[in-house]
Amino acid sequence: MRKRQKHISVGRIMDYMRCPFAYWESINRARERQATEEEVVGNASHKLTAGDSPTKTREFVAAKLPHLAEDKREAVMAEAVALSITAKQMSSPEVTQERREVQLMWFDPESGYEIYAKPDELFFFDEVVEHSGGRRKTVMQITDVKTQAEQVRSYHWRQVFLFGLIATMSLRYYHSIKLVVRLAGPEKEEHRWFSQRETPRQLERLRATLRQIDKSWQTRTFEEKPGSYCKNCPALANCGKGTQYMEAQQGRQQLHLLGEQPELRSVPVLPEPAAQACA
Ligand code: SF4
Repeated sequence: MRKRQKHISVGRIMDYMRCPFAYWESINRARERQATEEEVVGNASHKLTAGDSPTKTREFVAAKLPHLAEDKREAVMAEAVALSITAKQMSSPEVTQERREVQLMWFDPESGYEIYAKPDELFFFDEVVEHSGGRRKTVMQITDVKTQAEQVRSYHWRQVFLFGLIATMSLRYYHSIKLVVRLAGPEKEEHRWFSQRETPRQLERLRATLRQIDKSWQTRTFEEKPGSYCKNCPALANCGKGTQYMEAQQGRQQLHLLGEQPELRSVPVLPEPAAQACA
């Protein structure tokens, strides 16, 4: 019998994998919390890149940042426009002819979740594929554009691999997928290949994460997992471990500036969270 359907996006799954407490906070405080300027810049640039008009995007910025003066909102808009122009310039020409942003959905009968994924680009093109003996093949490319990151991190790869998995399952596309992470700020991109031989293992990891999410909701237990990303976490003010981690980091930096390297060992630094690779 088909289980009761639940819904989750790849973004929420990634939030949980990085820090369950931040995931819980973001769900519970989504209505109360005011978006940060950085978040609005990122969202607005995605909208412009996806084809929304400047007028519509400006309305979005105004709705998200009603407390800001108009000149500050215009500065947010200008930053979003600049990032979207860079993102468009870095796009492959094929993207303008094919689907740019696409909403994927796959229902997983085992976990009972409808899983949504919205990569910034999904399109097909012909390429000589080295790992396929140098033959020319039609390839699916999925691109995720990051507007704030300065370097590609493992977290970005986990997200784009999850996009690859959801594309495989929802479109029943059982060939290799080229996965691209594009950084609009430093204007660079990297790519990896999603191998279909990996699909069963990736799927099991995804389901293990979904089981953890279910368990967290059943027990109302959402663990804090501090890391370098705490400094941009909207939940920092409510999070003891995150605050402790940031204080330890600041202590490290101050000692480093003073040149007191040996003292670094005495500063308590919380461990980075264990990687929960989903892809
Ligand atoms: S501050 Fe850090 S540990 Fe705390 S909720 Fe945010 S990401 Fe998690």
